[in-house]
This record gives sequence, C-alpha cells and structure tokens, in this order.
Amino acid sequence: MPIMLYNTLTRSKEELKPVNDNALNIFVCGLTPYDDAHMGHAKTFVDFDVIVRWLRHRGYKVRYVQNITDIEDKIINRARERGIEPVELERHYEKRFMDDMEALWARQAVDLFPRSTDYIEAMRSQIQLLLDKGYAYQLEQDVYYDVSKFKDYTKLSGMRIEELEKHRIELRQGKRNPYDFALWKGAKEGEPSWKITLRIDGRDTEFVGRPGWHIEDTAMTHEIFGPQYDIHGGASELIFPHHSNEIAQAEAAFGVKPFVRYWLHTGIVNINNAKMSKSLGNFVTIREVVARYGAEAVRMLCATTHYSKEMNYTDALILDARKRNAYMYSALSIFYGMREAEAEGADDAALRTRVALFVVQFGEAMDDNFNTPLALSRLMAMIGELRVFAGTHSQVSASVKAYALSSVLELAQTLGILTSDAYKHTMPAEAGELVRRREALRKDGRFNEADALRSELRKRFGIALEDTEYGSAWYFAGA
Ligand SMILES: [Zn+2]
Repeated sequence: MPIMLYNTLTRSKEELKPVNDNALNIFVCGLTPYDDAHMGHAKTFVDFDVIVRWLRHRGYKVRYVQNITDIEDKIINRARERGIEPVELERHYEKRFMDDMEALWARQAVDLFPRSTDYIEAMRSQIQLLLDKGYAYQLEQDVYYDVSKFKDYTKLSGMRIEELEKHRIELRQGKRNPYDFALWKGAKEGEPSWKITLRIDGRDTEFVGRPGWHIEDTAMTHEIFGPQYDIHGGASELIFPHHSNEIAQAEAAFGVKPFVRYWLHTGIVNINNAKMSKSLGNFVTIREVVARYGAEAVRMLCATTHYSKEMNYTDALILDARKRNAYMYSALSIFYGMREAEAEGADDAALRTRVALFVVQFGEAMDDNFNTPLALSRLMAMIGELRVFAGTHSQVSASVKAYALSSVLELAQTLGILTSDAYKHTMPAEAGELVRRREALRKDGRFNEADALRSELRKRFGIALEDTEYGSAWYFAGA
C-alpha cells in the first residue's frame, strides 16, 4: 500500500516517493522563541510528530529537522522591553519550549534543532550565489531578492502577482519591486550583528548586519540535506511569503526543481471558535494546558482534527479528549487484568481476527494522507471491543492477549497516546469497592455523596474518575 499525501505545491494527493530509496528528509519550520509556545505551536509540532512517527512505523528512515529562529525582530524588541540581551531572552524561551515539547512527547522524534545563527556562512554563500546569478541586489547595507526575476514565484501560493501587494511587505525606499524581500539586513543601532563579505561587481564588500528570516531555512536545509529533499512542513500561514520565498531562494541558487518534493501544511488553532490573540485574551500556552489536562489530552485533541484542518480548542473539547483517553486506559487495564489460558478457544481466534483487521484498517487511514480522526476512531472501537471481551469472558488465551495489547499500543503510540504503562496498574480492592459504591449512589441520584467518594478516591489512592458516555473510567493521576 503506498502512502498518499496532499501536496500544497500541486494541490493534489500524491503517492510518496522518496528522493533516495526509503530515506526521507523532513524539515519543519520551528519556533522563534520570544515568549511561551501556544496551542497553535502544539498542533503543528504534534501533527508533524505523528506524521514522522507513522512514516518510521512504515519503515522509512526519516531524518527530521526542526529549526530554531534565534535572531528576529520579535526577539530583539522583547529583549529591549525587558532590558536584557536578545540571546538571553531567546535561550530562556528556547529552553522552556524544549521542556514543553518533551512533555508533549514531541521532542523525542526530532533529530536536530539547528539554530539559525549557526548557519551564517551557509547563508552568506547562498546570498553570493543569488548575487552572481542576478537574483539579488545590494541596497546600501541590505541585500534584497528581486522577485521579478523568478518566474515561479507564485506556484506554491497560487496567488496572482497583483495580490501579493496586499500582504505584509517590508517597506524600504529603493526596492526594485514592492514585494522584494531582504536576504540580509544592515545592523541598526544596538542590535546583534554579524560581519560577512560579499563580492559585488568584482569588489569585496563588507556587510554588517543579520540574515533575513527566509534565508535561514534554505541555508540550513542545503547544508544538512543538499539541494533537494522530500518534505517541508509548517503552519498554513507560512505558505506566503515564507515558503514562497524559500522556493525562490533555493531554486534560483541551486537550480534543482522542485527543491522540496512535498509541501505539507497544518491548519490553524482557534480558541472558543475565535482566532487566537493575546489582545482578545484567548491565548493558551502549551504549559498551561499540559499542567491542567495532561499531555495525552492534547495529543488526543490534535488527533481528533485532521492535520490540514483548523482545530478548535475549548475547555469542553479538551476535557472530552481527556475522558476518552482515561476510558482507553481503563478499558485496557480491565483487559490486561484478565486471567490467561494456554489453550486458544474459538472466541480467542475470532478476537485475533478482529485485531488483525483493526491493524489493517488503522494503517489504511494513516496511509491516506495521515487521517488521524479515522485512525483514532478505529482505535477507540478496538479498545471498546477488548473491554466487551473482558466483560463477557472469564479468560483469554495468553497469546491473543499479548497480540491484542501489543498491536493496540504500538499503533496508539504513533499518535503519541497510551504511552504510559498505567494500564498495568491494578486498582486496590478497597478502591474498587469505593468505585462500585459511587456508581450505585449516582444511579440513585445521590450526587453529593458520589462526589465525596470521588474526592476520597483521589486523596487516598491518587485515582481520578471521569464519567464518560461509556460509563465511568479511572486512571492514576497522583494525589
Ligand atoms: Zn521557516
């Protein structure tokens, strides 16, 4: 079965064919650390984490690189507000971001987090190539890209050239075209700067300043992957101008087209159905959400929405994600606790067939442009079947039990869920008795008394209860 993926460049679903054998080079636009990362970042990095995990599961040797933009206007401005050095501010938020990524289980799959300022020489040589080939021009201490020279400029965005002017454009006297963008910016007073030498009209000229934003990605990827690689990912708002400019730089400088085979873009995140914005007060950081609901709830919520679609975040939705996650742990724990038999009965064999079918269908969903909502619903249904099996059988064959558990866990972990072995924890008998008493109280409508038992379970045993559509689920949450 081939893997099909939607390519923004061709606006169609295509079969994945790596540049080299079964090796895949993947680059995803990373963070500009000047503040804590928010739910929009969580979606992008969790979605690409799932994509990478799935491709590795399918046997591809993936090299996954995510850059860190460690010099940028936002970093400089925020550092100035706080009266500290830009590098100090950047390292502070970079460290916090790495902790967030680790907590989300989204850092572990990344092979390399290169910082842009470690690639100044690669940027210099790329800018030199663009000057030599007539795609770049000097404007005092700046160097600009002449967009009119690159005829494929709108192929990724699909925009008409007249539309470009409506978008955020760097204002600067003397540019040849309004949408020309900076490859190198001359240093302003008090800003961090680097010194490079460029040869222009046969003369060496010194430039003191810093790189433009777009050149860092193509400098890094050329250094790390070469002039062509497989997949470039990022949030959809980067299609123009950022990714369009990357194509203009790399294809003009190195002449290999397309420099990226497949462009994948993730949808934005809305908070309570509105665009996330600090001024509207609906800005949610990763660390707040992870502290409140746990990392797996975030992963569940992300998997519920297709990577390419807009995702809505509300308290009700993340709570629901946590409940479904708790249900899965609790159903698995009941199945895990089943008595094992050596012999395999007819029902065991039937269960084995059901699991084998689930493995195929989960794979079909993921191979079809990483359809996580469908894959997740198949996972939930399979775990539901295991729960029913445990409720209707006194034992299960040891081999079918091991096969079912390993299949479910292996596939769930490509989504970044069911990563802990909490399903192995069995509930103390006394706690089990409290759960049963509470269920009875709830049936009788004695909710206050039921709530008191719930608090007692949490305090004495560290057990949290969630009332789900499938009945009450429990998990170890700590005191
Ligand atoms: Zn980028």
